[in-house]
Parts: sequence; C-alpha cells; structure tokens
Amino acid sequence: MGDLEYSVLVDVYEKVERTTSRTAMTEQLVALLKRTPVEIIDKVIYLTKGTLGPDYAALELGVAEKLALRAVAQALGLSVREVEAVYKKLGDVGSAAEALMGRVKPASILDFLGGAEASVSRPLTVSRVFDALVRIARASGPGAQDLKISTLVALLKDAKPREAKYLLRTVTGRLRLGVADMTILDALTIAFTGSKSARPVVERAYNVHPDLGYIAKVLAREGLEGIKRIRVTVGIPVKPMLAERLGDPREILEKLGGACLAEYKYDGERVQAHKRGGDVVLYSRRLEDITSHYPDVVEMVRSHVKAEEAILEGEIVAINPDTGEMLPFQELMHRRRKYEIEEAMEKYPVSVFLFDLLYVDGESLIDKPLPERRRKLEEVVEETDRFRLAKSRLVKTPEELMGFFEEAIAEGCEGVMCKSIRSDAIYQMGARGWLWVKLKRDYRYEMTDTVDLVVVGAFYGRGKRAGTYGALLMAAYSPEEDVFKTVCKVGSGFSDEDLAKLPQMLEPYRIDHKHPRVVSKMEADVWFVPAVVLEIIGAEITLSPMHTCALGKIRPGAGLAIRFPRFTGRYRFDKSPEQATTEQELIEMYKRQKKVRVAA
Ligand code: AMP
Repeated sequence: MGDLEYSVLVDVYEKVERTTSRTAMTEQLVALLKRTPVEIIDKVIYLTKGTLGPDYAALELGVAEKLALRAVAQALGLSVREVEAVYKKLGDVGSAAEALMGRVKPASILDFLGGAEASVSRPLTVSRVFDALVRIARASGPGAQDLKISTLVALLKDAKPREAKYLLRTVTGRLRLGVADMTILDALTIAFTGSKSARPVVERAYNVHPDLGYIAKVLAREGLEGIKRIRVTVGIPVKPMLAERLGDPREILEKLGGACLAEYKYDGERVQAHKRGGDVVLYSRRLEDITSHYPDVVEMVRSHVKAEEAILEGEIVAINPDTGEMLPFQELMHRRRKYEIEEAMEKYPVSVFLFDLLYVDGESLIDKPLPERRRKLEEVVEETDRFRLAKSRLVKTPEELMGFFEEAIAEGCEGVMCKSIRSDAIYQMGARGWLWVKLKRDYRYEMTDTVDLVVVGAFYGRGKRAGTYGALLMAAYSPEEDVFKTVCKVGSGFSDEDLAKLPQMLEPYRIDHKHPRVVSKMEADVWFVPAVVLEIIGAEITLSPMHTCALGKIRPGAGLAIRFPRFTGRYRFDKSPEQATTEQELIEMYKRQKKVRVAA
C-alpha cells in the first residue's frame, strides 16, 4: 500500500506557514496532492487540517498539554520540569519539543535508547502517524492516559525535531495552518483536473458530501465523472443553506419577486435530522453530531416522520413545558452536555419547528423549488404539540410582512425568514443567497418597569399544569372607552402554590363568554369578569397584530404586546381593575423604552 513520509508533509507545513500568498499556498498543496498515493490522500488532507476525519464524524484531537509534555520528557529522557521550563519560554509544546530535541545530541538519544533499539528506528509515515493519532483519540476509560503517552512516546522516538513540532501541535489540537476548505478544494481541482474550471462541480459535490478526504479519494480515483455521481445520502449532512439580510420589507418583496413565504425565524439551534428506519442522527448548523444532546428530538423524528428515509431541517427551541411558550436561545445551553442528559431533558424541554425537507425515500429534493419541498414536508410530518412545521404565511405586501414580523417578535422569535417561492427556489447548499432573506431587528427595547394588568381570560395548562391554567390573558385599561384591551398571555413566574390557587381565586369571576368590556382578538379557553390585577414585567414592549391595546394608535393593524412576560409574584388586590395600567401609559412606556443594539 502506498504511503508517504511524514517529513514530506512537514515540508509543506513549513512552506505554508511561511507564505503570505494564497496562490502560493494552493501551489504547495497541489504539489503535495500530486505526489500523494491515492490510498492515503484522505489522511493527508485530514492531517493538514489538524483533524482525523470530516467535521461531522471527526474524532476529537485534544490531548492536554500537560500530558504531551510528559510524553516529550519520557521520549527524551528528561525530567518533566526541564521540559516545562522550555515550554513556558516558548509557549507552545511543539516548539518546545523541537528545541529540546535539537539540543539533546543524537548520541545521547542513542545512549538513552540503547544502540540496538535505535537502529530499528524507522522514519515516520503519514499512515503511521495518522493511525497512532486515531488510537490516541479513541483511548478512553482506565488506562487511557498511559496508552496515549506510550503511543506518543513511540512516535516521538522516531521523529526528527521538526516532525515532533507538528506532531505535538496536531495531537494537542493546535495545528493551525489556516488552510481553508475552499483552498483545499481549489488544490484538489487543479491537481486532478489540470485547471480550476471544474471547481463549481467539485464544490457542489463537497456541499452534498462535506468530507474533503472523501472528495479527494473520489476525484483521485474516478475523476470528475465520479464527482458528478455524488448524491445526497442519509447519514451524511449537507452544507446548510444560508440567508441574506435586508431591513426593509418592501425591498425584500421586490428582491423575491413580489411575494414570498414568510416563516417565523425561531431563536434556537438549527438541526438537520437524518432518519433511516429507526436510526436518527442530528447535525448542528456546523455539522457537528448533536444527537446525544437531544434524545427527545431523536424520538420525535423516529415516531412522527412518516418515511423510511428522510433528511429534514428545523430549529430546536427551548420551551416552558407548562405553557408551551418559547424561551430565549440561551436556555438551550443546558442541553450541551455529555452527562445527565435525561435530567436536562426533563428540566429544559424543547420543541422542534421544521422548515425544510431535503430528501425523502430515495428522492433528493435539493433541486426542487421550495413550495414542493414544503408540501412534501407537510405530507411526511405528523405534527404534534412539540414537533411541528414552522409557522408560515404567504405574503404579498410590505404591510402583511410587517404584521407577520411583529407577531413573530411578540411570540419570542428573532424575526422572520422570507423565502422565494419561484420555480428556481432550490435548496442552495452552503451558500448565502437571495432565495432566503432574513428580516431581523437592529434594535430591541428594554422594559424596565412593571405594569399592573387585569386577568380577562385563561388558557388550560398542559404537562405539569394539566388541570389548572397554563397561561392568563392580561389586559390594560382604557378609561376613555371604559374597556380592557389585551397586551399579553402570561404563563411564567407562577410558583406551584400560585398555580394551585389560581382556579379557585378566579372561579367567582368565571363566565362562559367574553366580557362585554373586554376587547380581544385572541380566543381564550375561559373568560372572566375583569377583576383580578397582577403585576407583570417583560423583556420589552413590542408591536403585535395579536393584541388590542393601542391597536392602530402607533401603526395601522398593530397593537402593543409584552414580550416574554412574567408574573412578579405580586397580586395587586389593593387595586381595582380600573386602577390598572392604562392603554395610554403603555403607549408612553413603549415610546420611552431604552434601545439596545441587537447583535447581527
Ligand atoms: P442567521 O443565523 O441570523 O444567519 O439566521 C439563519 C438561522 O436562522 C438558520 O441557521 C436557522 O438556525 C435559523 N432559523 C430559524 N427559523 C428558521 C426558518 N424558518 N427557516 C430557516 N432558518 C431558520
């Protein structure tokens, strides 16, 4: 089997590190690829990127520096303290090893090893280095440390000083040559087709199968014909489609040809779910395997996707289990852990909002227009409370788009995604393009004061709150019209004790229809005579077409809503409903709110 000396790779690393020109970097890679035997071309590419495989299946390299230093000491017959001293001076394990090995005379290495052993020393090859690194990355459980050190020591004993430098940087996860995937694609195309003209074809294959090692092997073995045969495959994540951004609804509609499918832009974690029979794998936007973080999502895909094989995309959003309200993105961080995931799953439940279907039962859909993909998605997904399609609306005017946008914001979303519905609206892998345009806010506001609102309706609870209320419909008072107008649905901030006593407390006011002094667009499950006043705080006051407070007073079609509202715990029994915060006060508060820049 063909192999290559590791020193050849190191030559290229050194040249790449020295060069300031991307063209020169590409040329170095082309030369390297041309002399690399096809059997190991994938290994050469992974090593150059400082990895052991494609991102979605990579074994993690990241031996602790302390451990690496111990291996260096052992290989050179020095004390750990001596090695650490040099490391502290140079700040990098690789450079420290290189310097020390240059200093320790070969003769003394010979002494240390003993003449016989030294004579069997063999030069490092790419395969040997790669396989050893895989062994190190895989080592786990008791004895793992020893295995890592002994494997590393064996390599170091056969390494030249400059080889040791890169070897140690690689094994500690610090080889940073800065060779971009795009540069490697350029180099591969030139090396195996003679020019850059086929670059788009190669890049497309890479977007479908984002594994540079695999692309290299196919290209080296089967040429461009092989590359063209690469298809979307269940189990291999495709490069996700990205969106452009515009701030003006009119401009967005113009860009998309006058109409578009607007979807809520949920504030969570993007997921690409791959299903084959009962096997489900989840990939993040960066194509990392995140299956272990979301056993609940795996189960939803397994039981509610009615296809043998499928690739779906959606957003995982943290929710309040008792009310179904969406929570800010940060809440998902609790799920990014390796241990006690069952407990985290209970405590921090999620919903999934699906927005695309890339593959179903043998058929790739990436070249089909969005309306067709969306239709198939609807067919294939059996919706539940927690597993549903992204909320969407066909919009044709800037006003409709703004209305939908405000609804999305008030419900806790980041904005909306505006998607082309024309016949060329394919799934544009890996690219930011004008088929998807996001509409987000540059600023958000900050609600600093509490308000006192009147309970006018309620929604039945689910989960832990089954049998009581999940959320209350809250309203502000309008003295001019002597009516109560809704501003939010609040389900957060209630203690178990609060929840237990709410139905009883509200029972005397319960009626079987909306009270004549209540103005609401929402349909509550239960209505009340306006009587009970609660203190509420939220993240901000926003415009929303769903609520009637200040409806049309700031913008046609929009009222005011409190985003992420929460009960402070204070029942304002001291206040009559007519003493609640008024519509006019909310308008003033809306206008006076502090502006905060939203990160792009
Ligand atoms: P951004 O990160 O601001 O560039 O926005 C793109 C991200 O929005 C995607 O990667 C998804 O994670 C997320 N997203 C939320 N809802 C949707 C949706 N309906 N369609 C597409 N992407 C969405």
